[in-house]
Amino acid sequence: MSKLNLAGVGMTSQRTRDRLVQRLCDQGISNFEVLEVMRTTPRHIFLDEALAHRAYEDAALPIGFQQTLSQPYTVARMTELLLAAGPLKRVLEVGTGSGFQTTVLAQLVDRIYSVERIKPLQEKARQRFRTLGVNNVHLKHADGGFGWPEKGLFDGIISTAAPEQVPAELVEQLDIGGRLIIPVGDNKSQQLTLVVKTEQGAVTTIIEPAFFVPLKSGVIR
Ligand code: SAH
Repeated sequence: MSKLNLAGVGMTSQRTRDRLVQRLCDQGISNFEVLEVMRTTPRHIFLDEALAHRAYEDAALPIGFQQTLSQPYTVARMTELLLAAGPLKRVLEVGTGSGFQTTVLAQLVDRIYSVERIKPLQEKARQRFRTLGVNNVHLKHADGGFGWPEKGLFDGIISTAAPEQVPAELVEQLDIGGRLIIPVGDNKSQQLTLVVKTEQGAVTTIIEPAFFVPLKSGVIR
């Protein structure tokens, strides 16, 4: 697990961040460790300077290339769902994006393998991990809809982009007892979905409505 190096990061006021965590509690997030990580992770460094002042609002914010940094509630909720059955050693993330969700997870699980299809976003995220001392994340520039088979099996998989159906490859790369959290649907209607792999097969549970950018195929250099 990573411990963040916050020297020189310039945190916003304690009160602003406490307010964010209070709001997450009010919205039903109850995992104490997740709340603590949400309180201490500097979200403003995952945004361009012009937007940084909005970092502690509970809103999704643009990161370029028509992509968004997910809303804090969504990041906290997905993290809590991923961790609900106990500690995780190997996690696959599809959609590194700004690297915020990755950084939250990096403080709570042993190792993360994160795949992003847009190279410039990946490079910005890589720089942020360096600044913060996040050292348990491995990055790949590829179409993450195929997972990262060489690094599996995983005991957790999280996708921050929505396919129309759960990709079979991701379910295949789950270990027994492993959990996949993924938004599923089109641009009109999506559901945050939990798939748990058991000896008898995959068990799917719909959690709640979701609003994510689509999972796209191919890569951008
Ligand atoms: N977790 C990110 C959210 C980024 S939005 C954050 O906290 O900032 C979703 C991301 O998924 C985008 O960066 C998008 O480029 C990426 N994405 C979409 N389809 C993908 C695919 N097939 N493989 C890998 N990444 C994908």
